[in-house]
Amino acid sequence: MKKVIGIDLGGTSIKGVVMGEDGAYGEALRIPTEAYKGGEHVLASIMSLIGELLGTVGDQPVAGVGIGTPGFVDGDGTILGGAENLPGWKGVQIYAPITERYGLPVAAANDVTAVALAELKFGAGRGVKNIVCFALGTGVGGGIVIDGKLYAGSHGMAGELGHIVVETGGLQCACGQNGCLERYSSATGIVRLAIDYASSADVDTPFARLVRKNPAEITAKIVYEYVAQADSLAMKVHHTACEMLGRAAGIMMNALSPDRIVLGGGVMMAGDIITNTVKTYAARSAWPAIFERCEVVPAQMGEDAGVMGAGALALERF
Ligand SMILES: [Zn+2]
Repeated sequence: MKKVIGIDLGGTSIKGVVMGEDGAYGEALRIPTEAYKGGEHVLASIMSLIGELLGTVGDQPVAGVGIGTPGFVDGDGTILGGAENLPGWKGVQIYAPITERYGLPVAAANDVTAVALAELKFGAGRGVKNIVCFALGTGVGGGIVIDGKLYAGSHGMAGELGHIVVETGGLQCACGQNGCLERYSSATGIVRLAIDYASSADVDTPFARLVRKNPAEITAKIVYEYVAQADSLAMKVHHTACEMLGRAAGIMMNALSPDRIVLGGGVMMAGDIITNTVKTYAARSAWPAIFERCEVVPAQMGEDAGVMGAGALALERF
C-alpha cells in the first residue's frame, strides 16, 4: 500500500504521521515549533521530524510528503506570508531542501485548506466531490474542494472565506476591509458581539449581567452555555453570528453549487444549533434550486484533521 508522510505545522507544535492510502496511520510524533527561533529553524525541525518518521517505516517506500502550514504557499513551495504566528516563515522555500535531503516530492497547502481535504476523504465530505469548509476558530479559515481536489487559486490564496464581506459598511477588519465574516462568526467575533450587545443598559438578562461584570472572561463557549438556556441576549449574539455565516455560505453556494457546506473549528463544539441556524439564514442568501441541492453539515474530523489533511494532500499529488 502506498505510504506518505503528513506534517501539520502549528504555532506551538509540529505534528507528523506516516499514513497509508486508506487514511490509517500509527502514532503521531510531535515536536515543539519554537516559532520565536525563526523560519529556518522551523524548517530544520520539520526536516528532522521527517527523518524520524522515515526511520519508523523501515524499507517500505514513501511516495511523498504533504505539509499543512498557516498562511499561503505558492506553487513552488515558497511561503508567501499570512502566518503571523510564525515570525520569519514568510519567504522560506520549503520544497527544495526536503527533496534534496530525502529525495521525496513535497506538496504544501494552507492548514485549514488541508483540513478541508481531510473532511472530503475521511470525514463529512465522504462520497461527494465538491465541498466548502468554514473553520470557526480564533478567526475564520476556509477550504474549497472542487472535483475532489483542493482549490488553491492561481496564487495559493483561495479559500479566505473569513474575509468575505457579509455586512456593507460593517466592522473594520485587520485585513483592511469592513464587514468581514471573521469579525462576526469567529470565536473572537462572537465574544465581541456579546460585549457590544450587553453594553446597552436596558438589556437585563443573566448573560448580560455576567458580560458586564466580567467582559474579559467571556468566551464563545460561555455564550453557548447561555444559548442553551435560551437567554435572550445570548440568542441575539448567536443569531447575528449565524446570519453572517449563513450569508457567506449562501454566497459560496451560488458561486460553486457544492454538495456540502462543512462547518468546523472550536466554535462548533456548540453543535447542531449552529448548523441548523446557519442553514436557515443561508436559505435567504442562496438561489433556492442551488440551496435545495446543498447540505449544511458539521465537520467530523477531530484533532488529527491537520496531519490527515496533509497526508491526503500527498496521497492526491504523488
Ligand atoms: Zn477581513
